[in-house]
Amino acid sequence: MRPRERSAQMALIHSRDTKPELVVRRQLHALGYRYRLHVAELPGKPDLVFPARKKVIFVHGCFWHRHSHCSRCRLPKSRLDYWKPKLERNVKRDRIAVYGLRRSGWRVLVVWECETLDPKRAIKKATRFLEMA
Ligand SMILES: [Zn+2]
Repeated sequence: MRPRERSAQMALIHSRDTKPELVVRRQLHALGYRYRLHVAELPGKPDLVFPARKKVIFVHGCFWHRHSHCSRCRLPKSRLDYWKPKLERNVKRDRIAVYGLRRSGWRVLVVWECETLDPKRAIKKATRFLEMA
């Protein structure tokens, strides 16, 4: 593996506790919500799982998950042959995960990294989703 590939891989590994996810986690926790983290038995290993509500929240990085119409998802100018298929695989994997979750009765919300720049709004979106009957 070339060094640049390795560092990209590392970034992926460390994306587990990335800041946007922590923003959402901390605020929801402060509001009294309790959840499980990164539940490996569920499709896509959702970031936050609310078993009693049968709901999951993904906090997606705009670049890694190709947030459409978002400036943060712009493809790098170099090594497009490497990045494009790689990121497209991520998107496909996400789609399959959401499909699998919905099919087994889970409701799914994606909070995007760029949305967490306005934490109040991101949390409002999350709580609205969680309180929805
Ligand atoms: Zn975005």
